[in-house]
Amino acid sequence: MNKSDSERIMGIMSHFGYEPSSEDEADFLIINTCSIRKLSEDKAYSKIGNWGKRKKDGEDIKIGICGCVAQQEKENIFKKYPYVDLIFGTHNIYELPGLLNKEGRVCAIRDKAVSEKDFEIIRNKNINAWLPIMEGCNNFCTYCVVPYTRGRERSRTIENIIKEAKQIIKEGFREITLLGQNVDSYGKDLEGKPTFAHLLRELDKLEGNFRIRFTTSYPTDITDDVIETVKKGSKICECFHIPMQSGNDRILKMMNRRYDVQKYTEIVKKIQNEIENVTVTSDFIAGFPSETEEEFQDTIKQIKLLGLDYSNTAAYSPRPNTPAGKMVDKFVADDIKKRRLIELNETIKEASFNSNKKYVGKTLEVLVEKEKFEDNKRLLEGRLRNNKVVHFESTKHNVGDFVLVKLNKASIWCLFGEEV
Ligand code: SAH
Ligand code: SF4
Repeated sequence: MNKSDSERIMGIMSHFGYEPSSEDEADFLIINTCSIRKLSEDKAYSKIGNWGKRKKDGEDIKIGICGCVAQQEKENIFKKYPYVDLIFGTHNIYELPGLLNKEGRVCAIRDKAVSEKDFEIIRNKNINAWLPIMEGCNNFCTYCVVPYTRGRERSRTIENIIKEAKQIIKEGFREITLLGQNVDSYGKDLEGKPTFAHLLRELDKLEGNFRIRFTTSYPTDITDDVIETVKKGSKICECFHIPMQSGNDRILKMMNRRYDVQKYTEIVKKIQNEIENVTVTSDFIAGFPSETEEEFQDTIKQIKLLGLDYSNTAAYSPRPNTPAGKMVDKFVADDIKKRRLIELNETIKEASFNSNKKYVGKTLEVLVEKEKFEDNKRLLEGRLRNNKVVHFESTKHNVGDFVLVKLNKASIWCLFGEEV
């Protein structure tokens, strides 16, 4: 979502005569921040700290900070970082033109979103384009800062999304990833209540040779219609990112997740049984407040039982404003969290290797994303429709091509094969 916002910010700034530049040469530096965990917040502050030193040493630069940390901390940032010139929140991106023209230090934070405006978007020339279909979240999981920094759920209209998708295809992108904190609640706030499955079908009908991906799915909101649409769609990739967060029912309840292990298992099994070569990936948090060793072991057990293909992991990080962030007396000690995170990562490594091994012997379509040269060989790297990374040697094909590859070897994080 941040990458996508940055592309919009770049578009707006280019409209007003700014050009993208390197960090060393730029005269206006803006950092678009994430506050999902303390680590990402710390990284952002360390960056503006370095830029501040450059300014103190006499460089004529302007410094801006936007995104979720800005939305959360507002003008407090000026107190600690007095050399910052511009602070703007997640709902203020479309006001940037006015903000750029203001004299002196500026802080612009809105509580609510304004409707989007039709500015150019400067997308990083790549294979994949990010396409937000909605913003914000209504779920209020107790650990999560998103509803506070991104506001309530707002869907973009089908017309706007289709218009942007057509532009993306015209610009030569080969893949569109639809973004939303909970894509399955797409459209609930729109007139006529169009569903996510309907949106997928409309996008699948567009002409062109491209793939459609989407993220993130909330376990119990995935409908049979979505599963059926993914199964039947020609461009929609067979890949679901469905964060489970924990494999223990008490912890899930404390997290305010609206499912238990049994319900999560049912949805994953349904997807795995219905769709050929599908992958299901997840997110897990280690050391949520009050999590016992036994409860953590339930998570390890579930990852193995469910046959998940890959998962992101994080140690629980207390976040401002969130209910879990206030459970100070229940916090799990840092060294225990760290150890659980390592065990989680080891389990996921094993799961990823087991999942990759299932594909050895199959011939599947790869979309090429990168080329590199190693020992006089030209190697291409791309992804299967289910998002698995594949490496193969080729003299014929190029970045952006769809190539049939026979997969003949699996490693932990990728597959190797030869073009057919
Ligand atoms: N909307 C998505 C996830 C968005 S945040 C969903 O509902 O699943 C991405 C991931 O960051 C989450 O899935 C969660 O695993 C992790 N995360 C969020 N808040 C966190 C926190 N306070 N500490 C550690 N990890 C967190
Ligand atoms: Fe955060 Fe939960 Fe919303 Fe995901 S669903 S963004 S984890 S509050």
